[in-house]
Amino acid sequence: MADLKLTGVEKAYGEVKVLRDINLDIKTGELIVFVGPSGCGKSTLLRMIAGLEKITGGTFTIDGERMNDVPPAQRGIAMVFQSYALYPHMTVRDNMAFALKIAKKPQAEIDAAIEKAARILQLTPYLDRLPKALSGGQRQRVAIGRSIVRDPKVYLFDEPLSNLDAALRVATRIEIAQLKEQMPNSTMVYVTHDQVEAMTLASRIVVLAGGGIAQVGTPLELYERPENEFVAQFIGSPAMNLTAGEVVATGAQTTIRLENGGTAVSIVPTAAADLGLKVNVGVRPEDLVEATGAAIFEGTVEITEALGEVTLLYLKRDAKGSQVIAKLPGIRPELRHSTVRLTADPAKVHLFTGGKSLLYR
Ligand code: ADP
Ligand code: MG
Repeated sequence: MADLKLTGVEKAYGEVKVLRDINLDIKTGELIVFVGPSGCGKSTLLRMIAGLEKITGGTFTIDGERMNDVPPAQRGIAMVFQSYALYPHMTVRDNMAFALKIAKKPQAEIDAAIEKAARILQLTPYLDRLPKALSGGQRQRVAIGRSIVRDPKVYLFDEPLSNLDAALRVATRIEIAQLKEQMPNSTMVYVTHDQVEAMTLASRIVVLAGGGIAQVGTPLELYERPENEFVAQFIGSPAMNLTAGEVVATGAQTTIRLENGGTAVSIVPTAAADLGLKVNVGVRPEDLVEATGAAIFEGTVEITEALGEVTLLYLKRDAKGSQVIAKLPGIRPELRHSTVRLTADPAKVHLFTGGKSLLYR
């Protein structure tokens, strides 16, 4: 078992704080994904957990034991990097055995560990090959195998798929999901900037932004109930549409008049005191449907992109050119240059004020 706990963790390089007040409880068996824009501190946070980077403030524990000053090799952690750097002159078997040989483990134990790792990673047929005779995905699996043989309690992955081509990324992503299933008692922390990887692999996602945690939750919690505009627009593709408006009716449902026309209704409740409140109305492209009655958005379709199962519409709403993206089912190129009216189920209409969701007030 390995429960990880970060309390008030921060990282400063000299005067510059790149991470501040990180509080996170990670339970045994979870696969936690850190996502966020480039440079937001994902790798730094992972490296602090690994012990490769000094923790400059706060506390990090594994199973209640303080780890801040414990050297990396004694934390029971294995880290898999983006560049897998196998020894080119060694076979797959020898690459995986290397750390165990250095640690002077008995040969029988080494053989058993390699056999088990090879089985989990489907590498058994390749054990006697050199890395140059493997595909990129197979090499990445060998790199993971080098970790598995050490039987760590915690696995850390830093963008392990980013060097692979698109098809291989998908295949290897599914392999990592299967790997996790086979090791239900290991704890995994996985860094990526790819939100599809985050959505498909994570038991919980940690969205990092501006040196702090923007939200922690299951993939669907982040998708359905984002706490702030950053998470709302970071999760989902194309990003959620955000449009300024003003609350014109309150109660169990809220009615908002949008700037430059259109009316939206949200199931997010408001109080009389909120009449006149300036809000941003958020609607995901996939939640927009063609309106028969009142419309939230009306405009001219400037561009259509037919992706096969869906068509993306780029709608110009008004003279100022404010744009809305809709994702309609099917192939709809005929909508180009036409005027469309779109609405959404009030349950899918998000409201934000000062960047924060009204749901979490
Ligand atoms: P991510 O992995 O999310 O792309 P990093 O964790 O690599 O981001 O970096 C976070 C921030 O810390 C970046 O702004 C980066 O410039 C800064 N940083 C990383 N390493 C150092 C260092 N050794 N000295 C100063 N700043 C650093
Ligand atoms: Mg990084």
